[in-house]
Amino acid sequence: MALHFGLFADAHTREPVGDSIRAWMQIAVHELSVCQALLIQVAEHACKQGAAAVVRITIECGPLSGVEPTLLKDAFAIMRLGGIAAAAELVVVPTVVRIECMECGGRTETRPNKLVCAACGGFRTRVIAGGELRLRSMEMRTLEPRPNDGRTRMVSG
Ligand SMILES: [Zn+2]
Repeated sequence: MALHFGLFADAHTREPVGDSIRAWMQIAVHELSVCQALLIQVAEHACKQGAAAVVRITIECGPLSGVEPTLLKDAFAIMRLGGIAAAAELVVVPTVVRIECMECGGRTETRPNKLVCAACGGFRTRVIAGGELRLRSMEMRTLEPRPNDGRTRMVSG
């Protein structure tokens, strides 16, 4: 018996999706791929540590990273399934934008849409932080040692 799914069967007759929907889908796809990369990194660490499961994953996410934390958490809820982080919680720690001023050399905190030196008002600045997206820490559970079953082991030799 063949199963037909409307979405694929009718794809060529559907109206083109609106720009806003397409934009949202692209963002979501971006978060899915970011999440996949994160989970690969997490699985590698967990494997090296001999962990049985990952309990919590903490990442740092800057305002200029291009990642929307809410969408990332949604993506994580899907992508974690079936892996070592299947029951893990994702904690997103937001970071701030920091710039360095080419005029006065000052390093100040600012908003993503206002890259102006807070010390002298200079416009010639460069971003030194705020674009990061990195794994900060992860909490893992290791295999519990087997409970003592009361039997003693015979050692000969
Ligand atoms: Zn300055």
